[in-house]
Amino acid sequence: MKIDIITLFPKMFDYVLNESIIKRAQKSGRVSITAHNLRDWTCDKHRTVDDKPFGGGAGMVMKPEPIFEAIASLRGVPLRKCCRGEAGRRSNPKTRIVLLTPQGKKLDQKSAKRLSKYKHLILICGHYEGVDERVRRHLATDEISIGDYVLTGGELPAMVLIDSVIRLIPNVLGHKDSARFESFEKGLLEYPHYTRPAEYRRMKVPKVLLSGNHSQIESWRKEEAVRRTKKRRPDLSGGN
Ligand code: SAM
Repeated sequence: MKIDIITLFPKMFDYVLNESIIKRAQKSGRVSITAHNLRDWTCDKHRTVDDKPFGGGAGMVMKPEPIFEAIASLRGVPLRKCCRGEAGRRSNPKTRIVLLTPQGKKLDQKSAKRLSKYKHLILICGHYEGVDERVRRHLATDEISIGDYVLTGGELPAMVLIDSVIRLIPNVLGHKDSARFESFEKGLLEYPHYTRPAEYRRMKVPKVLLSGNHSQIESWRKEEAVRRTKKRRPDLSGGN
């Protein structure tokens, strides 16, 4: 998978993209991620990316031209073909253009899984009051929010999205950090985990986990997953 990020602050990604599983996924060639500076697609000497809102009001709005230019060049299509109506979903079904916005669909495991199946993701990080509405209407194929709160920019949401998607790409997780059974996979929260020591300050690990009886351990884990889902997240299907 190829991931291109369009941002005003590419340096914000340096650390996050170069650690842990995301770093390994890139090293192994399963994923390639590049953070691009939106200002590289401006043509004036001040490298302007924002302007005052039509109709007045507080704050600045991100201009459409550099974003359309950026998407056209990252997709390798002429600018006139950049809108989704002409060369979007239909002509390139392997690319998604994701606008990070608090007004989008809330990111969950299901949408992360869906996005993990594409060959190319282009993420647009907004700032200020957000992006010109024409970007949302004519360019974005997906609008994603990471929760009902407003952040300063789309960079942290983009990082969250990248992490949630990458770990679902086949063979990105090794055996030891496998996503085989994780929370939300089967409409359930995951069962509780314990490690050594078996007793710490009189707090004991459940006996069954020390028994070596794998079928009993399996049943205990299933019951615990259902129990805690019912208690904490009755809205999930597996808890009913
Ligand atoms: N004026 C916008 C509104 O009220 O809907 C909020 C703009 S916010 C200050 C600036 C940028 O941060 C947005 O364009 C978006 O890219 C990003 N952002 C903020 N909160 C977000 C969230 N919960 N999920 C995804 N992106 C978010």
